[in-house]
Amino acid sequence: KLKIKMKNISKIFYTGEMETHALKDISFDIYEGDYISISGPSGCGKSTLLSLLGLLAPPSSGQYLIENEDVSNLTLTEAATIRNRKIGFVFQQFNLIDELSVVDNVALPLKYQTPPVPLNEARDRAIKCLNRVDLGHRVDHKPNQLSGGQQQRVAIARALIADPAILLVDEPTGNLDSKNGDVVMDMLEQLNKDGTTICMVTHDARYADMAHRQLHLLDGEIVEQKQNVMEAV
Ligand code: ADP
Ligand code: ADP
Repeated sequence: KLKIKMKNISKIFYTGEMETHALKDISFDIYEGDYISISGPSGCGKSTLLSLLGLLAPPSSGQYLIENEDVSNLTLTEAATIRNRKIGFVFQQFNLIDELSVVDNVALPLKYQTPPVPLNEARDRAIKCLNRVDLGHRVDHKPNQLSGGQQQRVAIARALIADPAILLVDEPTGNLDSKNGDVVMDMLEQLNKDGTTICMVTHDARYADMAHRQLHLLDGEIVEQKQNVMEAV
């Protein structure tokens, strides 16, 4: 089942007299259950691509479909509505709210849905998501009582709460030591095996190898699509 279709997508930034062609005629598809990594040197367009995928910015040209719905030309309000329902974000910074408990952090996106999800249901769903990231025993902790790896797993649970079409992950291990980084990457791999569709930006070649397919960007173009051979079980 096709989740994401990007066809001949370009993005140009205009700053004064200058034009920056951040993405040049990019095309790729993401299917349900895929795990895609995007890598490439600084300035190659990774963040721009992720912001387009996440409906944080519109393409300059080209066609973008999420679950067969054309999202190439949305108003800001339409983009926000579809983003809330279809996109889960995980950032390098965990972006958790320190004053809220873990479970309230995870439930927060449900408050902004229309209509808002009733509190009891929101809490139950948040606990289910925390169980998926093995943090069912930490629901009433505050984020600063957790390790970095645990905080990132809370952020992943929050990203999953609305059952998004795709999880967009930006350098998830950038703020973690290698032990916690490995824990987070193992968690993403497990979620993918359970059916979550993932698109991840990483500059770590070891982690890019965990994806099924690697898109390598250079100067705004896809220069290589590497299909990872699945290990025999
Ligand atoms: P990466 O994430 O791979 O480092 P980016 O997507 O941030 O690359 O940037 C791609 C290119 O687009 C760079 O040349 C960058 O300077 C330019 N760029 C990114 N965002 C903007 C912006 N808001 N305005 C102008 N130029 C931008
Ligand atoms: P896990 O393997 O479950 O992710 P960790 O080994 O990362 O757990 O941490 C064990 C426990 O130590 C955590 O449950 C947390 O309560 C506590 N802890 C770890 N790092 C920190 C930290 N930086 N600040 C506060 N508590 C921490």
